[in-house]
Amino acid sequence: MNLLFDVKSAKIYTSASQQIRVLSEGWVLREIYCPSCGDAVNNYDNNRPVADFYCKKCIEDFELKSKKGKIGKKVSAGAYGQMIKRINSPQKPNFFFMGYLENLSVNDFFVVPKHFFISSIIEQRKPLAKTARRAGWIGSNILFSKIPKAGQIFYIENGKEISKSDVLEKWQKTAFLKQITKSNAKGWILDIMNCIDNLNKREFTLTEIYSFENALRVVHPDNKNIKPKIRQQLQFLRDKGYLEFVGDGIYKLK
Ligand SMILES: [Zn+2]
Repeated sequence: MNLLFDVKSAKIYTSASQQIRVLSEGWVLREIYCPSCGDAVNNYDNNRPVADFYCKKCIEDFELKSKKGKIGKKVSAGAYGQMIKRINSPQKPNFFFMGYLENLSVNDFFVVPKHFFISSIIEQRKPLAKTARRAGWIGSNILFSKIPKAGQIFYIENGKEISKSDVLEKWQKTAFLKQITKSNAKGWILDIMNCIDNLNKREFTLTEIYSFENALRVVHPDNKNIKPKIRQQLQFLRDKGYLEFVGDGIYKLK
């Protein structure tokens, strides 16, 4: 994979933002494959603002968000209201995230499958001040800390390329989440995946997951049976091959 943007392709543009759009999109078309099937991605023409790219075979859409510098903990995502509407619509795209360096090379690139997108990962920014040109406008950020690690599938991590087989395998591993359409059920599973990530180890006990009981109660105040709910999610994740139940209250990530 060539990590450098093709600088000459953007010479005809004078605005910096337009140049970066052309360079980053050109790079994706040249280097990035569909994480579901491995085929090339295609771009939509600019008059059809559905998404930026699509895979002909899988009918998957992809939208690109890029930023200069390290990708960090969040990326800005445009108007808050529009973003929420977008991720709750049946046509929501998968998202590509790119961090590029000063020398116009890609440092980080990953895809977040659309089934990981729920409202709670979108942060609402403060409305712009009265003195601003777009006074009152409310922007948004996408918070990577709220997306389980399994939902951040890297092609390039800190300048290092990840093998294609790893990318395709990681995509398939959580494809089961697509079938969960109710937002409350989806929220619970993603919360438990995040709790497991927070433990930061491959093998863990039920007691360790129970230590998140209070934190989960804050997020789900209507639920009076947090522990059974936790067990239900663990069972579900085991049935889907995400976890393995070793016995004696011990679980292992697959
Ligand atoms: Zn595909």
